[in-house]
Amino acid sequence: MIIANNINKKFGRLKALDNVSVSCNKGECIALIGPNGSGKTTFIKAILGMVLCDSGFITFNDKNILHDWAYRSKIGYMPQIGRYPDNMSIGQLIAMMKDIRNPATVKLDDELINKFELDKLYDKRMRTLSGGTRQKVSASLAFLFNPEVLILDEPTAGLDPVAAEILKEKIVAEKAKGKLVLITSHILSELDDLVSQVIYLQDGKLIFHKKIEELRADTGQEKLSKAIATVMLKGR
Ligand code: ADP
Ligand code: MG
Repeated sequence: MIIANNINKKFGRLKALDNVSVSCNKGECIALIGPNGSGKTTFIKAILGMVLCDSGFITFNDKNILHDWAYRSKIGYMPQIGRYPDNMSIGQLIAMMKDIRNPATVKLDDELINKFELDKLYDKRMRTLSGGTRQKVSASLAFLFNPEVLILDEPTAGLDPVAAEILKEKIVAEKAKGKLVLITSHILSELDDLVSQVIYLQDGKLIFHKKIEELRADTGQEKLSKAIATVMLKGR
């Protein structure tokens, strides 16, 4: 569904992505893991077309994304830090997004809006929101247009435990419908019940891309955090 072919991205002399090739298929929930600054967000932005690769290319459903911007309508994106017009209310923001995304062709999915009870906060302005409420808005928007692909950058950061659980259940449900979910998180224990594959990046390089069962078998570790630690120690 999404294939990166030898993609490279430099910021000045820094190689943020160093010859990365991976293939991400529908029905998978793939964790993007790696230390701070390893290129996870850059990789996500390259898929979204927000970062242009210096070389290599990315295909979405077999089409080079450079020549077909329409693919973006098939992606729901929750950024690591959601920035929104300060003076807009939650209700206005959601209405504006509906206007822009023109959802005439899709069935809207407002489950998260309802479960997070955002409808009760529609008059609140974005600038007045706590970090957690802002994250709830970002998450709700990512899922609202029922996209085939969900790209979630640190989605549970700042969410209270109840909200985090609601979001995790939603991710599991959407994956079960055959969607592709790409997710980053610093808290590996959060990913244990969610992910089917792991992509590990370090210094912009792809260290491995494995199925979770494979990773568990290779390391003898059940938990993702232990399994990753075992792989990294072996590599030294
Ligand atoms: P991660 O999400 O894994 O923490 P990032 O993809 O955000 O890492 O960043 C990878 C590296 O690229 C970091 O060293 C970061 O400082 C650098 N970087 C990211 N975006 C930019 C940018 N727009 N300009 C310059 N350097 C950047
Ligand atoms: Mg990041």
